[in-house]
Amino acid sequence: MRIIVQKFGGTSVATDEGRSKAVAKIIKAKEDGLSVVVVVSAMGRKGEPYATDTLINLAKGIGSKVAPRELDLLISCGEIISTVVMTQTLEKHGHPAVALTGGQAGILTDKNFGEAQIIGINPEHILRHLGEGKIVIVAGFQGITAAGEMTTLGRGGSDTTATALGSALEAEMVEIYTDVDGVMTVDPRIIPEAKILRELTYQEICEMANHGAKVVHPRAVAIARDKKVPVKVRSTFSNDGGTLIHDGKTSRIITGIAHQPGMGLVLVKAKTGAMNSEDSVKIFKSLAEAMISVDMNSVSTSQVSFIVKQEVLGKVGDLLMPLGFNVELLPHCSKLSLIGVGMQEVSGIMVRVVEALHKHHIKLLQTVDSEITISCLVPEDQISQATKVLYNEFGL
Ligand code: ADP
Ligand code: MG
Repeated sequence: MRIIVQKFGGTSVATDEGRSKAVAKIIKAKEDGLSVVVVVSAMGRKGEPYATDTLINLAKGIGSKVAPRELDLLISCGEIISTVVMTQTLEKHGHPAVALTGGQAGILTDKNFGEAQIIGINPEHILRHLGEGKIVIVAGFQGITAAGEMTTLGRGGSDTTATALGSALEAEMVEIYTDVDGVMTVDPRIIPEAKILRELTYQEICEMANHGAKVVHPRAVAIARDKKVPVKVRSTFSNDGGTLIHDGKTSRIITGIAHQPGMGLVLVKAKTGAMNSEDSVKIFKSLAEAMISVDMNSVSTSQVSFIVKQEVLGKVGDLLMPLGFNVELLPHCSKLSLIGVGMQEVSGIMVRVVEALHKHHIKLLQTVDSEITISCLVPEDQISQATKVLYNEFGL
């Protein structure tokens, strides 16, 4: 059996127009002789009636604390609604289809409600339905525990469902359909003329996704990479060939730029003299105990600095000030990351970044780099300009 997994994101299934375009892609794959497994997200984004955020607000509107188990039960409904709507749409076009919850599709997870990990897939039901010639529509973003509890997989969960099913079913391709033509060198919302990347290695897209390019979730890519399942990112709304993600090598020096908005910078200094390693331990320990994740860490004898999500910035101050440090909190920052696997073989990239930003009066608050990424923290209101500067500097 030749299997293809096609995932349609929230904007693709939100409207009649999107759903008919999605259905056309599904039918085309079926007519090409493939057995089709479709993964769907909840219909629409924030504010729309069946979107995940709307469902969360429904429960939180009653009382702010919702038990994680009940919250998962509620938010998994968004994707289930989508499966039935898509199944009906396919039936209307004369194609037999069946809707399955994550659990019915055999997706087994741990008990970590809200952020569950897939621990196994039993594809028996899916294979039976495919064997009967049906198109199988699976609710993304969810699974079931061994005890039969509904769980959700966290952000980007439907992408993860798609690649996990793709690898369990040994699919010949996983197609991620969304509202852009493919993976671009930069988020087209920031640079509309950004070029499409026709092919990318798993490593390149993983790095882009890990640094905020939310077009596909990093966990989903990692799963595909393990089993070497090829992934294509394509648009539901066009016939563009999209971006193929594969296991090959790349000769590119710079792949693209990714963003993480909504960050805050924390600068911690000792009240007297220099910081010692005991101070650093104290700082990072108290953050870890409060489950606050930090990024762009820099430790020196004069200060410790790092970034956190803007919404926990106040909490970080409340944690660290009582420990006897001088704490400076800088809200409204954005992280921009220049990604390039080929960068490790070329020198002088960092100086070009710093020089270009300096020339355009962009305030560089902090930088960190690895062999394949240079990340810069800039004020939120300069992020578009900073991106354009580097986009032009590196001819992306
Ligand atoms: P879906 O609901 O289909 O999962 P997402 O909103 O999660 O859609 O992902 C698609 C969005 O990802 C695009 O609308 C685009 O703004 C954003 N995006 C961020 N970085 C990139 C990039 N490098 N290339 C393409 N899209 C990107
Ligand atoms: Mg998405």
